[in-house]
Amino acid sequence: MGLIEDWLRLAAARVAEQRGWLTDLDAAIGDGDHGINMDRGMAAVVARLDADLGWRTTAAGPPGPFLVLVGRTITGTVGGASGALYGRAFTRAGERLVEPTPGPKEGAAALAVAVEAIAALGRSHIGEKTMLDALVPAVRAFAAAAKDGRGVAEVTARAADAADAGAAATVPLVATKGRASYLGERSRGHLDPGAASAALLLRALADVAATR
Ligand code: ADP
Ligand code: MG
Repeated sequence: MGLIEDWLRLAAARVAEQRGWLTDLDAAIGDGDHGINMDRGMAAVVARLDADLGWRTTAAGPPGPFLVLVGRTITGTVGGASGALYGRAFTRAGERLVEPTPGPKEGAAALAVAVEAIAALGRSHIGEKTMLDALVPAVRAFAAAAKDGRGVAEVTARAADAADAGAAATVPLVATKGRASYLGERSRGHLDPGAASAALLLRALADVAATR
């Protein structure tokens, strides 16, 4: 199986395992559905891969068109802000990845495009206690390591480390975007659920890349 398929399968399994945790994080500062939303989207991707319907041929081909399919599936199956944001991110990354066998530099560009798409759709930026607080540092770390000529295992590991640190750094922040912003000051002291899921997705990518 290709790297992207392995990644999505591992990410789906981890989201399913962490569904309760992600939902608890969202219950504290949102509406308590983030784990449910993420699990619904990732499970739909795995179900469609397993059911085939042309998915296996796409998954076996270049990563771009496969990621577009994944993005559309997430957009179509997940309610909530995160479904629209992650769906758009996967779709845009897939559209950017035109190379049949992209390397770390192309991966860095695709991740950057994905994160820019989230910022544009969410009208958000780093520091607002959202998934961008994990993703923006991850993009920077990924790009820096790719520029240094590091291989896929190392660039993805550095991105995952940066995402973990960025997610942890959301705890003291006050949310100014999404449902958590309704809480104002009371959003302080909690980990942002979307930052947590973004870090989880990038860690799954790094763990899959490490086995290759
Ligand atoms: P909803 O907020 O619609 O219930 P989820 O609970 O699935 O959707 O996702 C909530 C997460 O989405 C938040 O923790 C945050 O990280 C992210 N999010 C919400 N709004 C935005 C935004 N405008 N920009 C970036 N991320 C956002
Ligand atoms: Mg929610």
